[in-house]
Amino acid sequence: MKFYNTYSKTEENFDPGKKEILMYNCGPTVYSFATIGNFATFLTNDFLKRYLEFKGYQVKQIMNITDVGHLTSDADEGEDKIIKKAREEGKTPEEIARFFEKQFFLDLKKLNFSLANKYPRATDHVQEMIVIIKELINKGYAYEKDGTVYYDISKFEDYGNLSGNTPEKLEEEVREAVVKDSNKKSPHDFVLWVKAPEKHLMKWDSPWSKGYPGWHLECSAMAKKYLGPTIDIHTGGEDNIFPHHEAEIAQSEAANGTKFVNLWLHRRHILVDGTKMSKSKGTIYTISDLEKLGYDPLVYRFFIFGTHYRSKAHFSFANLDNVKKGLQRVIDFIGRLKRIENTAGTNLEAMALIEQAEDNFDKALANDLNTPEALAVIYDFISKTNQFIDQGKINREEAKRSVDLLRKLDQVVGLFFLYLEKSQANIPDKIQILLDKREAARQSKDFDLSDSLREEIEKEGFALKDTASGQEIMRGNTE
Ligand SMILES: [Zn+2]
Repeated sequence: MKFYNTYSKTEENFDPGKKEILMYNCGPTVYSFATIGNFATFLTNDFLKRYLEFKGYQVKQIMNITDVGHLTSDADEGEDKIIKKAREEGKTPEEIARFFEKQFFLDLKKLNFSLANKYPRATDHVQEMIVIIKELINKGYAYEKDGTVYYDISKFEDYGNLSGNTPEKLEEEVREAVVKDSNKKSPHDFVLWVKAPEKHLMKWDSPWSKGYPGWHLECSAMAKKYLGPTIDIHTGGEDNIFPHHEAEIAQSEAANGTKFVNLWLHRRHILVDGTKMSKSKGTIYTISDLEKLGYDPLVYRFFIFGTHYRSKAHFSFANLDNVKKGLQRVIDFIGRLKRIENTAGTNLEAMALIEQAEDNFDKALANDLNTPEALAVIYDFISKTNQFIDQGKINREEAKRSVDLLRKLDQVVGLFFLYLEKSQANIPDKIQILLDKREAARQSKDFDLSDSLREEIEKEGFALKDTASGQEIMRGNTE
């Protein structure tokens, strides 16, 4: 397996030399609904985790819930996002955080995520963060001024290795973008602990002041607590690279005295209708928004599977409609296989196809998690096998093995059989009764009755196809 490491900027062989893989994912800040953009990143984590499990590894996965310290600006400026939302809604920060956390878990379920081992909250780990700050002060990487503690980036030699934003480059290029906090030795130093104003909600005692932790610190603290000082894989969205992940490395490596992460994997943004998602254009969608527009969240999952994590995915409803058709094609194929009854003959070519498909699927994902390539393998398998079925050249055993293959690949894709179950549940009893009657009419060669039943079924918005292996039904018109 090889994956692109943001740290080295190259594709690297991934061979941890052990069975258990430690993976940390930056999670949601629970001040609003997670967007389809956030879920693009989270789904990439999920595909990666499932693929590693497919390869026989055990993945210990931790994803944090940010419920304090994430300010409206990455430059240590602005208001805490959760406190801001609480003020706007007339609620407490805890009420806001718990509400959106709950929504997040509902969305994870709708998208059929394989759940992480733990989703620790930042507010439950303030003591662990204080311990790291003490360590950083003792080792000379941090300084306190007026109750606020800063990380001194000039003391950490490798600062900038991940993002390219070395202290020298920052001085030259982004000086004007950085707030001038006169207590900072360098304007690019970042906060570890912030002294809270008198009336600030959410504050904790510390050796320096009553205050709250900087956003970056929680991930260093929780990764260490649950996974140890060195982890195999750390993921996030590309917007996390700087300053968030650069700061995590500086904190963890300085405090622990050892390498923090072996592989940094970042998902690129998705574009909506060709541009960045924007509030003013109304193009920030949530999973509930998609549902309201009639899309099963699994269709979105499939859309993301069809895009490579290192390219910008183009989201549009037209694209989503195409993805839905593609998914229906897979579902129809499974249905077709399941109806094959003939036991005669052996098709060695069909059997070879099954083996090749599994092999090629694996190869695609081993090549920097190339999910669109893996999807192409699935479609290729479907169209070749469909040709055999059309020719009556697949027997029950071969059909069963084909279904088994799809079930195996679905361990990574994570939606085919769930979507199939849901769509079968979507055939109303009334329609099922008509289908059964029609099947009986066909058996007894009563074609007039069969035709009138077909009309009835089609009037209800379903499409029917008669095949050698029986009736096939789907919603909408056949195309
Ligand atoms: Zn993080």
